[in-house]
Amino acid sequence: MQAFEYNKLNDADRASAAGAVQGAKFVAGGTTLIDLMKLNVEQPTTLLDINALPLDKVEKLPDGGVRIGAMVRNSDLAHDSIIQQIYPVLSQALLSGASPQLRNMATTGGNLLQRTRCYYFRDTAYACNKRNPGSGCSAIDGHNRMHAILGTSEHCIATHPSDMAVAMMALEATVQIRGTKGERSVPLNEFYFVPGSTPNRENVLVPGDLITHVTLPALASGTKSHYLKRRDRASYEFALASAAVVVQMQGSRIDGARVALGGVGTKPWRSLEAEHELQGKSANEQTFRAAAEAALKGARPLHDNAFKVELAKRTIVRALKEVTRA
Ligand code: SF4
Repeated sequence: MQAFEYNKLNDADRASAAGAVQGAKFVAGGTTLIDLMKLNVEQPTTLLDINALPLDKVEKLPDGGVRIGAMVRNSDLAHDSIIQQIYPVLSQALLSGASPQLRNMATTGGNLLQRTRCYYFRDTAYACNKRNPGSGCSAIDGHNRMHAILGTSEHCIATHPSDMAVAMMALEATVQIRGTKGERSVPLNEFYFVPGSTPNRENVLVPGDLITHVTLPALASGTKSHYLKRRDRASYEFALASAAVVVQMQGSRIDGARVALGGVGTKPWRSLEAEHELQGKSANEQTFRAAAEAALKGARPLHDNAFKVELAKRTIVRALKEVTRA
């Protein structure tokens, strides 16, 4: 690990200014960053500890939505009574991720910024366009069982690892950011980039940008939601495929639906195609299967991960069955 300076900050404006300096990185729970520093994948010259920032509350908003501070720990968010009652998909997604110890440390802001678990990204002996732009992608002709099938490019096929972000995508969350030029809000669906020819650029953040909150909009009365995750073992494992579904019903008819996928996309993957197939239809197996087919229509599997196409379809169907069960 490279030597670095360490500073504690308790003011968001000062943190933003300090974060704009080249080589500086924010650290909160440290559950991704410290690992990657030990592997020499991340080599910050200054660590800015933001654990003391007053951003650790889950607050109900006057319009019925919820504002989540960036420093709220994953465990606290998963067990928050408002989240459990109104947004169960988010609680389920959080509790399906990592281990209890990691969830106790990991923060809301940090979870959104998790780096990929691509083994070639985490091993500096291998070529990786995300870690070292222009060096190539070892996964495309290598072992790619865990890699993405949606949103890929010839430069990178890495999967986004977050469960929480998939649920937030289906909930149409907005990210609040404080930067050196002031505050701004970005819908989560516009926060992440697909890799294209610049897989090293993963999201809209620029140096000095600090995530301060995530806002969830109010849900229509009677809205139901569910998160289903498929993985190689029952706990402490990343998704091979997951689905977050948020549905409003009118009798047996689907009045509105939002669908997001994890484990298969280069970013938490919202499927407007699946949502379009569900809108106004009867809630039955045929409708769910049509939505799943639409969601995976653009899939581009490689030699080790073709199984994810059918797995993701079945995950969507099963999640929709569960959420529309009377
Ligand atoms: Fe790197 Fe992306 Fe290729 Fe993995 S898939 S080796 S992260 S460029």
